Amino acid sequence: MSKAIYPGTFDPLTLGHIDIVERALHIFDEVTIAIAVSEKKVPLFSLEERIDQIEKIFDNDKRIQAIGFSGLIVDLAQEQGSNVLVRGLRAVSDFEYEFQMASMNRAMSPDLDSIFLTPKAKYSFLSSSLVREIASMGGEVSEFVDPIVEAALKEKFK
Ligand code: ADP
Repeated sequence: MSKAIYPGTFDPLTLGHIDIVERALHIFDEVTIAIAVSEKKVPLFSLEERIDQIEKIFDNDKRIQAIGFSGLIVDLAQEQGSNVLVRGLRAVSDFEYEFQMASMNRAMSPDLDSIFLTPKAKYSFLSSSLVREIASMGGEVSEFVDPIVEAALKEKFK
């Protein structure tokens, strides 16, 4: 059984994230979506809300697990028995930060590899922060997120 960890904030999960999860499932048997609690970032959605949304969106697909984490991703990967991290690369601008993170993680855990997947071109401009911003101003986000997240955003900003 091969298992990859897909870490991020997912505040909220977008169609770009879903695209990456689906691509990862072409390579790995299971994907664990590891949701950073991110207290410092003051997330819009609580960890529980994000887990609940993800479970509903993937309709409890047995290959996908959503969990929260607050420590080091290298420790989580070890706990989960996985040696692969999946990250999305949207544009060159993501590269610098991702390269730095992958290198730091490798320094801490030499056997843990990071792999990078690119989403469909139409999602390459999409980010959770822009979705939050558009929704907060009453804009339409149905092209960018699952209907479950769209409804949750409407509820938050009503
Ligand atoms: P961060 O760790 O920057 O808060 P996010 O939670 O937004 O990251 O995203 C987690 C991972 O998903 C990161 O690797 C990020 O590059 C990737 N990602 C975010 N949005 C998209 C998208 N639209 N298409 C592909 N990958 C994405």
